[in-house]
Parts: sequence; C-alpha cells; structure tokens
Amino acid sequence: MDSESKHTCILGGVQYDWAMITTATYDLFLEACRLEGCPICRVEHDADLRYLDRLFYGLVNDYNTRVRVRASLGFCGEHARMAMDEIQGKALGLTIIYDDLLRVALEHINNNGNLRKNEKKCPACENRDEMNGRVLSELSKYITDAPILAAFRTSQGLCFGHLRQALEHLRSAEKRKAILTIQCDIMQELRGELAEFIRKNDYRFAGEGFGAEKDSWKRAVRMGKQW
Ligand SMILES: [Zn+2]
Ligand SMILES: [Zn+2]
Repeated sequence: MDSESKHTCILGGVQYDWAMITTATYDLFLEACRLEGCPICRVEHDADLRYLDRLFYGLVNDYNTRVRVRASLGFCGEHARMAMDEIQGKALGLTIIYDDLLRVALEHINNNGNLRKNEKKCPACENRDEMNGRVLSELSKYITDAPILAAFRTSQGLCFGHLRQALEHLRSAEKRKAILTIQCDIMQELRGELAEFIRKNDYRFAGEGFGAEKDSWKRAVRMGKQW
C-alpha cells in the first residue's frame, strides 16, 4: 500500500481522505440524531441519495460506472424506486443507463437464449454497506463520548435491525450497556405514547384531540424495521 492509499479510500468512484470521512461520519450521526427515525437509517438513506445524485449528475456517461451498473443489471428495487421518487433531474440519467442495460440484455438473449445473471449487487447497496460499516465503526469507538450519548438520547432510537447490528459490533459490556440504557428509555417513552394513542381512540376520550402521540404508531413501525 503506498503512502497516499493509506490515507484515502474510493467510495462510489470518488476518492476521499480517510480522516475527513471519519470526522464526517461522526458528525453525520450527531446530525441524524436530531431528525426523524433511526439515526443509522437516516445516515444510510442520505448516503444513498448523495450516491445516486452524484451518479446521475456526473457519472452516467462514465465508462467505469457504466460497466459497474451493467454488472448488477441496474439497481435493486429499493434504490430504483429511490432514484425515481427522490432524485431530481434523474429522468435522462435513468434513460441512458436503462437503455444501455436493455441493449446489453437483448444482445445476451439473442446470443444465449436467456437473461444473464447479475455478477454484483446493486451499486447503491454496496455504497450503503460501506457507510453502514463506517457508522458502526465510529459508534463502537465513540458511543460513550458525552456528545454522542447526549445526541442519541434526543433521537427516536435505533431500529431493531440497526440495534442488533450495533450490539454485535460493540465489544465491551460498558458500551453495550450505554446504548441499551438509552434505547430502552426511548422505547419505554414510545410505549407510553402508544398507550395514549390507544386511549384516545376510545370514543369516550375522542374529544381530547391528539397531541405528540398522534404519529407514535408510525415511529413504532419504523423502529420495528428488521434487516
Ligand atoms: Zn435503522
Ligand atoms: Zn440497492
């Protein structure tokens, strides 16, 4: 490994400085704790959007990107939907990418009488896996730091899938306890809101109107997300 590659990594075809990534991932987690949903889901979703955005704005005609997208026969269902629904100005990019995929698929069918298998997973999934690894690694290093604990306490808690991953990743009992203490408090508070939502659905209390608990069932469904 040369001295430059020790300090850099390639993500989605772009070279980043490792120190910058590590700091950025820590900050992304802190920021995600202030927003709706599981903070790791949020960091990964934002990484998905950045990846797809960069791909559609600058890399659609890039040879390596084209080869990479062919290897996976395009995107998985989730990232194809995300590209269609959440990325601005993607129509032309998707048209170019999928026209190329259809051309290659037709060639293969004409030569072999079947559709070839994908050789790689969806590139956006691969990018998400990289981000997942970095977030878990940052958490395992810093979960007992005061800013991380304070931010996590204000969050809506981890989804079940990411909680399981985080617990598997955290080696020390102290770190597992730190995350579980906060997560269990958040889950207990959510259960309180669910009970209130159920109570107000009783016709005898319907006149009270809903408060913060009105979307508690959505938060509970999101928290129950598995992988
Ligand atoms: Zn999650
Ligand atoms: Zn995907």
